[in-house]
Amino acid sequence: MPRQTVVIDYQACQPERCEDGICQAALVCKKKILTQEAPYEMPDTKANMCLGCSECIQACPTNAVRVM
Ligand code: SF4
Ligand code: SF4
Repeated sequence: MPRQTVVIDYQACQPERCEDGICQAALVCKKKILTQEAPYEMPDTKANMCLGCSECIQACPTNAVRVM
């Protein structure tokens, strides 16, 4: 399977829409590719082996996550 990359659309990301400001996409990622420094901050991504499982996409309430 080719390596996949996860990208955050920072125009769409609204951490205040997530419970307690916790990035739901980062929460569900088993590979910890999405990271959030603190509640209510927008998440970052780190280069890693994304599984392409799409769980982060389903978890995000604002459709801010894309896997390419
Ligand atoms: S789940 Fe979506 S809206 Fe919430 S902080 Fe993460 S990327 Fe932003
Ligand atoms: S597609 Fe899966 S492995 Fe990749 S960033 Fe999203 S949750 Fe993590």
